[in-house]
Order: sequence, then C-alpha cells, then structure tokens
Amino acid sequence: MSSPEVFTDTFRRPLRDMRISVTDRCNFRCDYCMPKEIFGRDFAFMDRSELLTFEEITRLARVGAEHGVEKIRLTGGEPLLRKDLEKLISQLAELRTADGHKLDIALTTNGSALAFKAQALKDAGLERVTVSLDSLDDATFRAMNDVNFPLSKVLHGIDVAQDVGLGPIKVNMVVKRGENDGDIIDMARHFRGTGFILRFIEFMDVGSSNSWEMSQVVPSSEVVERIHEVFPLEPCDPNYRGETAARWRYRDGAGEIGVISSVTQAFCSTCTRARISAEGQIFTCLFATHGHDLRQLMRDGCTDGELAEALGAIWRVRNDRYSQLRTAQTQGPRDGRKKIEMSYIGG
Ligand code: SAM
Repeated sequence: MSSPEVFTDTFRRPLRDMRISVTDRCNFRCDYCMPKEIFGRDFAFMDRSELLTFEEITRLARVGAEHGVEKIRLTGGEPLLRKDLEKLISQLAELRTADGHKLDIALTTNGSALAFKAQALKDAGLERVTVSLDSLDDATFRAMNDVNFPLSKVLHGIDVAQDVGLGPIKVNMVVKRGENDGDIIDMARHFRGTGFILRFIEFMDVGSSNSWEMSQVVPSSEVVERIHEVFPLEPCDPNYRGETAARWRYRDGAGEIGVISSVTQAFCSTCTRARISAEGQIFTCLFATHGHDLRQLMRDGCTDGELAEALGAIWRVRNDRYSQLRTAQTQGPRDGRKKIEMSYIGG
C-alpha cells in the first residue's frame, strides 16, 4: 500500500507544523499584540459555540498527521484560559504520524497560570512549554503586559514547569527599542547556565493594530552583538531544517540563545507552518489577510477524506512569503485588506 501524500506547496515546503489557537482571549494586553485601545471592554471576542471543540481540533490534527504533520503547538490568545485544556492535550497525545511516531506537542503561554496548570499539562502528555517573558524588571514587565501582572508569578510558573519536567523550556522575549531593549543583558545573564533557552524575537508587523514601525525593531544582529560584548557567543547549527530561531552558544559552555529575525532575515523559504484560528480558519502565513473555513466543512459533516482533500488543496497552492517581500509591502497590502491579528490567528 502506498503511504499517504505529504502535502507540499508551490515552493516544495511540506506541511509539518500546525499552530492551533484554542482561544482568542488573553488576560494580558501587550501593546505589540493586543493593545488596550482596541482590545478593550467592548471588543467582541468569540462566543464559546464558535470555538472549535476539542474533538474538532483533534480531528484536524489527526488528518494533518496522516499527511505529514509532525508537530502541534497550542497557542492563542492565552491557551491556558481555555477550560480543561489538559483534556485536549491527552487527546492529541494519542495521535500518531503516518509512520507511527508520537506527535511533538508544545504550548506557548504567557506563564500567568502555569504554576497551577503545569502538573496537569504534563500528566496529560504535554512535552514542553515556551513562555513569553519580555523583561526581568518588574516595572517594565507590568507596563508591557499592561494589566499590571507581576513578574514574580511568571517566574514561579516557569520554575514549577521546570520541576514537573516540561523542559527544555524556551523563554521568548519580544524586543522593542526604547521599551525593553535595556533588559537584553539581564535576561541573558539570568538564563545563562540554567538549561532554559532564551530567544529574542524581533518586533513584527503582524496584524494592523500594533502601530508597528521599523524604528522600534531591534535587529537580531544587534542583540547578538550586545550579548557577545559581555558574554562571548559563537553560532551553532540549526537543530533541523526550518527552525525559526538561529542558534548561538556561549563560548564558556553556559548554554545557548536563539534569535528569531522574522523582520531582518526572513525565513519563509523553510516555513512549514499552518495556523488554525480558534474558530477553525486555516491560514498559510502569519501575515495572511484571509483564511479558509475548516469548521464549516466539519460541521457540515465532511468525511476525513474530504477534510484531507480540503487541507491538501489549500496547502498545494500555497505561495506565501510575506516576510521576504516585506520591504515592498511595509505599508500593508496594497488592496487595503487588513492583516489578521496575532491574537486571532495564534502566535
Ligand atoms: N499568550 C501566549 C503567549 O503570550 O505566549 C500565546 C500567544 S502570543 C500571540 C505568542 C507569541 O507571540 C508571544 O511570544 C508574543 O510575545 C509573540 N508576539 C505577539 N505579537 C508579536 C509581535 N508583534 N512581534 C513579535 N512577537 C509577537
């Protein structure tokens, strides 16, 4: 019997990863992602009935896995706000790839509820977490999350996650010039030698609400230079083709950092990710302006074969490479369509 088709796009990029948003809600209001002025009290978040159910998410992941998907990352919004998330994780942990391997299941969180949830997530089969943390200075951290959330709670959550074995833990810091770029060295110092992998993310022009300006982007090359001056670094090879972060290790053996340069050094050519919003729209690029509705298809009673065919049809014609073309598009799509917000599409 021939093995099932691995979906491949027009640039021969296979569909390997699904980033699945489980909610569009978040308890933080980071200005680069969900600024208060837009995501305020009157903002209409999705109704519960609009969210994909755990069964629908698992079905999508299963059909994806039969056609080449190896990795599922749960995100949002803040994924830990979704009730009983561990039930979804235990369902996903049962899935296998076409050649019988377990899927790599990861979660990206702001860490605010990690201390309470880490053990249940681990018991359900979660392998590792990535925690977003933009500063080690409590005042800066509170200002950036814009809900006055204390740093100590997130640090405690990270420790608990480490203790229950959700590692190696990655810590993501979005760097904005003038807001937290003064904390780069402190972050490096704090996480060096701990086994945590600190990654610096360039502030991206995702969505239309974060008033992005190139002047606020700290290029990864500058981050590496600044750290190198204090703690000498050398480049290391990627773990696998298509890894989003470029890796650098400390010359003294105190571990490694990563830099994600989606603005200054686009990595579209190796992008194997599809993003699925909490209501079941699939997007083939973080910077997309429109998605395809998989929820309707499933709720209309499609078979698994039809669902696979729909996924394949979307992926085979994929030609996105927004970041590579950004220079020409920084003013936004010329036809006036709005890019989708990160909190909707899933980070
Ligand atoms: N709430 C979760 C969290 O905080 O990690 C998951 C969703 S969040 C949208 C995922 C990641 O996207 C976070 O690390 C966040 O810092 C990052 N992010 C959001 N907006 C961004 C932007 N404009 N540029 C770069 N990274 C961004």
